[in-house]
Amino acid sequence: MSLNHVRPWRDIYRRKSRQIMVGNVPVGGDAPIAVQTMTNTLTTDVAATVAQVQAAAEAGADIVRVSVPDEASSKALKEIVRESPVPIVADIHFHYRRGIEAAEAGAACLRINPGNIGDEARVKEVIKAARDHNCSIRIGVNAGSLEKHLLEKYGEPCPEAMVESGLEHIRILQDNDFHEFKISVKASDVFLSAAAYQGIAEATDAPIHLGITEAGGLVSGTIKSAIGLGNLLWMGIGDTIRVSLSADPVEEVKVGFEILKSLGLRHRGVNIISCPSCARQGFDVIKTVESLEHRLEHIKTPMSLSIIGCVVNGPGEALMTDVGFTGGGAGSGMVYLAGKASHKMSNEQMIDHIVEQVEKKAAELEAAAESAE
Ligand code: SF4
Repeated sequence: MSLNHVRPWRDIYRRKSRQIMVGNVPVGGDAPIAVQTMTNTLTTDVAATVAQVQAAAEAGADIVRVSVPDEASSKALKEIVRESPVPIVADIHFHYRRGIEAAEAGAACLRINPGNIGDEARVKEVIKAARDHNCSIRIGVNAGSLEKHLLEKYGEPCPEAMVESGLEHIRILQDNDFHEFKISVKASDVFLSAAAYQGIAEATDAPIHLGITEAGGLVSGTIKSAIGLGNLLWMGIGDTIRVSLSADPVEEVKVGFEILKSLGLRHRGVNIISCPSCARQGFDVIKTVESLEHRLEHIKTPMSLSIIGCVVNGPGEALMTDVGFTGGGAGSGMVYLAGKASHKMSNEQMIDHIVEQVEKKAAELEAAAESAE
């Protein structure tokens, strides 16, 4: 639950879910909402895949998924798992053997739909492998690949069909006394996704993996995901998220974090509050923010920074941020620390100076957190 009773209009009541483990990352219950992404390299190219996993982890990914389409990928998976700083989810479709191999290779979770991998004996083998290797399972219902009997029953992919599909897969795991699972009901349409997720959230207490599938490119996919996932998260639904973009996995992680940060559900790095700029700006706000976003990427401590073009909104925004800069006149502006006007700084030296101030504040916050432990 993310609660802020001082400002009750910010409260989000998280749906109560069971907690499972994906490697060493708890998912569900009161665990922080985990951010995931997926590699898009060839899994058999171990070096490229590991580099992508590491970059995603550096950007904040808690969990990374890797496709395992063939036996060679299963072999590569073992090395990838060994090198990865975060738990790896193996993405399996239909091939029960791949599921077993991935569990043996050390995957922390299998993304596999038990109803789609063949007869009961095969399902049992995969579940046994998962159990033997401490591997959880994600049931991944997708509107684009619903079972034939459900499409016949409902006529087209609809929320009820997706929920029913999810519950059928859940039943198979439960019948085999396997409970370490989470579930997703993804669609590329935000309305369909949102309705399906609300349905599954009511029908089970399993942790929920949120995603809008095939969301699109960086800008359109970000907007679609922010609307779809943002709406669900705001309702308290979702224990782990993956933003799907036709873009670098690092971008998916950044967008995922921004969605969670906007809702106050996770905090990481510098939250920059900046104005859109206009003729009143005392310095080039857009270029400055671009540069600061890049130069402050290494800061992981949650903190806030306001970069505001002029005094219309600058002092007010600075009141609520750890560090602030407000454009003034004559080539300089005011630096604010902890909400108070502190000193003037020239526009030329401002970027370096703000970076220094933010680094100093981050070090202070880290030291305070360490001494509190
Ligand atoms: S804060 Fe000032 S510079 Fe920025 S948009 Fe508003 S009026 Fe323009």
